[in-house]
Amino acid sequence: SEELLYQSEKLSAVGQLAAGIAHEIRNPLTSLKGFLQLIEMSGQGKKEYFDIMNSEFKRIEQILNELLIMSKPQKLEKDTCLLNSLIEHIVTLLNTQAIIKNIYIEIEEMDKNLYIYCISNQIKQVFMNFIKNAIEAMDKGKIIVRLKKDRSYATVEVIDEGHGIPKSLLERVGEPFFTTKEKGTGLGLMVSFQIIEDHGGTIQLESKEGKGTKFTVRLPLHEENGS
Ligand code: ADP
Ligand code: MG
Repeated sequence: SEELLYQSEKLSAVGQLAAGIAHEIRNPLTSLKGFLQLIEMSGQGKKEYFDIMNSEFKRIEQILNELLIMSKPQKLEKDTCLLNSLIEHIVTLLNTQAIIKNIYIEIEEMDKNLYIYCISNQIKQVFMNFIKNAIEAMDKGKIIVRLKKDRSYATVEVIDEGHGIPKSLLERVGEPFFTTKEKGTGLGLMVSFQIIEDHGGTIQLESKEGKGTKFTVRLPLHEENGS
């Protein structure tokens, strides 16, 4: 199987720039949306044009939201957080989406009480991204989310039985805007790599076309573990 250890430093500068631009675009966008709504309410213009404009706005918002997760306003301070319950929470959220596709998400808790020091909303976003990608890569089957302690690190493996990533595309995964999906943004992994790097962790990717994909996230354990 193909393996790649991410050197996310390369993405750091572009990531911060992207988050900055997203911030700047959000306000004028909100204003534009407001005026669009006013015109729509006045009964002028064709409904089909409004439908197109609204769905394009949605798309821009989706892209901005993914980029904004990366930005670090002062208010968002790191806090001690139990990784086991964070993962449980995310899996509960995504289970409905999975069940519709006959996908079962199994949490394998090899170790309990894995505390990390993190911005929990960002770490949640990372595992949302990985598990969503896994769901999107599969027709049916099982996703394993395995939690383990490895010396002074917590590791989370997200293992799917999906279509995998062709060797030729492996290097491109995580590049800004690289997507193979019709409605994808190609930002989820870039944002995830950035967030994990900001938390002193690493991401490893193994994939075999037609067999499945495994993402391994390593995050430093917080001292409270006694490690
Ligand atoms: P998006 O999901 O919007 O396409 P991502 O950054 O999350 O953007 O993923 C980029 C690309 O990486 C995907 O379009 C897909 O080709 C590939 N990919 C990511 N995760 C998986 C996975 N679990 N299985 C197969 N391909 C994946
Ligand atoms: Mg994605």
